Amino acid sequence: MMTRSGAARGHDILIRGGSVIIGDGRSFLERASVRIRGGEVVSVESDGGMPGDDVVVIEAQGCTTLPGIINAHAHGCAGGPSMPSGSKPFAPTEIEYFRNRHLLAGTTTLLNVCGLSLADEINAGVAASHPLDIHVATAHTLSSLAAAMAIDGKGLKARHRRATIDSQVAAGAKALGEAGGGQTLGGGAQDYRFIPAAIEAMTGIRIHPRAARSLKEAVLGRYLDGSDGTDDDRLQALIAESGLPAGFGAGAMRRLIESTVLPPVALARQGFREIAEHSARLGLPALFHSATPTAATLISLAEAFPKARIVAGHSNHPMFTPEESVRFAHKLKQRGATIEVSTLDCIETRFRNGPDNLDALVGEGLVDTLATDFAGGDWDPILSAIHRIIRKGQLSSAAAVALATGNVAKAFPQLAGDRGMIARGKRADIVVCDEHNLSRVRHVIIKGRIVVFNGAILPPTDQAFPGHFPLQAPVDRSSRPEG
Ligand SMILES: [Zn+2]
Repeated sequence: MMTRSGAARGHDILIRGGSVIIGDGRSFLERASVRIRGGEVVSVESDGGMPGDDVVVIEAQGCTTLPGIINAHAHGCAGGPSMPSGSKPFAPTEIEYFRNRHLLAGTTTLLNVCGLSLADEINAGVAASHPLDIHVATAHTLSSLAAAMAIDGKGLKARHRRATIDSQVAAGAKALGEAGGGQTLGGGAQDYRFIPAAIEAMTGIRIHPRAARSLKEAVLGRYLDGSDGTDDDRLQALIAESGLPAGFGAGAMRRLIESTVLPPVALARQGFREIAEHSARLGLPALFHSATPTAATLISLAEAFPKARIVAGHSNHPMFTPEESVRFAHKLKQRGATIEVSTLDCIETRFRNGPDNLDALVGEGLVDTLATDFAGGDWDPILSAIHRIIRKGQLSSAAAVALATGNVAKAFPQLAGDRGMIARGKRADIVVCDEHNLSRVRHVIIKGRIVVFNGAILPPTDQAFPGHFPLQAPVDRSSRPEG
């Protein structure tokens, strides 16, 4: 009887009969087979791939095989304080759900960038280990911690406040960041969490996140410096449109928004500088919250610290206009930064955000890497964004897939230097997807173990491994009954 651990220990896995995307941005093999042994890829062959004895065969007709997705900007998948606000940990059931969502969407490696949790807390409070390979980043600088305390900090204990970048890198953190966040820099988390909560505390009325964003931008402007804010008449109209009582005056709203949004902003910007310094010193990539209030700061840091490995997170942030997102990404890229876009809820969900900025950045050829971020838990799958990019004809499938595989491995070598491509000697993190829509994930292999089969996560027991041998996975599309 074939067992899952058996496959990892002694038996090859052969994926054959489908197309293969290597992850280097160029290579698409129309028909090829991938052989896995001992957790690594041992060969990619253009012939049919003869199984031989003791080989688990995955028939991949009608499918495309890709490297596992590497998501280097995610939240909510590790224990310990959550978000750059050092908020209380997520509930274990939430963490488990978020991990499962990522895994079933083809993510095999995930960097949790809440930033103030500790490297030894990845599984803190979570019942069982998870097949997803989860790592953390560190943002433990004085100003980043102070910014968290200024907005929330309720998840921070003495050991979090004592931690340093160096102690966390020594403990296994794979990158720096996230420097700043929507909580500390007047971004999305202010819209969906802090502003509605402050208004609800005052009035008993919960407003929509889009209304919160309009009010915030009316008071502070998109750069949080008041430069494109509005006058009191317009603000009063927005208060009425939000469903708040007529007695809620413009002056009171200005005070509420300013006292909710602004306290951590200067500290968070100072945290940017500290993290850029550490990045230059350690040669580690650092993820920065990129949005209108921080774009100028980030450009000046890229100039001041040319050795810093700056990753401009969610360069498609909704506080930018499409023109701004392209202009700032150009400037950052010229100064050596990696341009990351996040799916947020831009692709399918569209609760708060749309795809215009992402489309513009991809269209200008500016995007290096693709991640999800969190978007209040509404993030859309990375492969859905890749499917969108391919369908719009903006990039080849090979180039689009590289945004979330080979390119991420290059930008985050300490996290993923051993993976991100289907090539001999690389770690066998592999996803088998429907060829007409890569966001439909059929099988997932992590370090040579089949962890998702036919769309279902396999329980971590040997007996639960599908008993048939060889595995008969999808039949040829042409033999499917029509209907
Ligand atoms: Zn962010």
